[in-house]
Amino acid sequence: MKANYHTHTTRCQHAKGSDEDYVLSAIKAGYDELGFSDHAPWKYNSDFHPTMRMELSQFDDYKRSILSLKEKYKDQISIKLGLEVEYYEQYMPWMKQFIKEQELDYIIFGNHFYETDENRFYYGSHIIDNQTMELYLNDAIKGMESGLYAYFAHPDLFMRSLRQWDALCDYAAHVICDKAKELDMILEYNIAGKMVSEQLGREQYPHHRFWEIAADTGCKAIVGMDAHDNLNLEKNEYYDNARAYLKKLGLEVVDTIQFLR
Ligand SMILES: [Zn+2]
Ligand SMILES: [Zn+2]
Repeated sequence: MKANYHTHTTRCQHAKGSDEDYVLSAIKAGYDELGFSDHAPWKYNSDFHPTMRMELSQFDDYKRSILSLKEKYKDQISIKLGLEVEYYEQYMPWMKQFIKEQELDYIIFGNHFYETDENRFYYGSHIIDNQTMELYLNDAIKGMESGLYAYFAHPDLFMRSLRQWDALCDYAAHVICDKAKELDMILEYNIAGKMVSEQLGREQYPHHRFWEIAADTGCKAIVGMDAHDNLNLEKNEYYDNARAYLKKLGLEVVDTIQFLR
């Protein structure tokens, strides 16, 4: 079973390729299953307009498009409808209802922002010390404990902020991996992050120290392409190398996830 559950669309404002292009690339690359998990819309209490996700008004078009592709290509690939969702405590009652009403197949946990993106506190660039790391870890734990998510995407996102692995990173990795092990939560090895690391010539996330700790803790892993460009789905060497690397470390690598329905 070859599957990828981390796929974006242009609605998030930082991706390219049509929805159908992603499906065609996935078929070409030999995927059995493709899950779309674009950045979730939210119903904000303010007039905030997000710059890295769809507006709530765009969700219907997203759903309609993915479901029509699911039907059109049903003989060639299985398509799932999902979202990548933060754990914004104040908005979670609304989100839980939304997930149910919209009959999503799954959601993945993308822990990007402190409390809400209205605060513009991005964990990929604002973690600078113990206090800010604690904010990330608190949200990470609450999200994992909610039981809503199929897996935790790029759990080592904090390495985009902190350029050198140090004792704080070690501590954070242990907190996350211990909780993931306790809850049987799958951790995602993120290929978009891997590609950026290579372009930068600097290891950000996924970070090898994190994955060594995940292996020592006995965590489960999944490879997520986090495709923001349909052509990246065709880069099978990243998918294959990541799986081989994780298995070599001793992690259990899973192929599929549990769906909500
Ligand atoms: Zn994105
Ligand atoms: Zn993503």
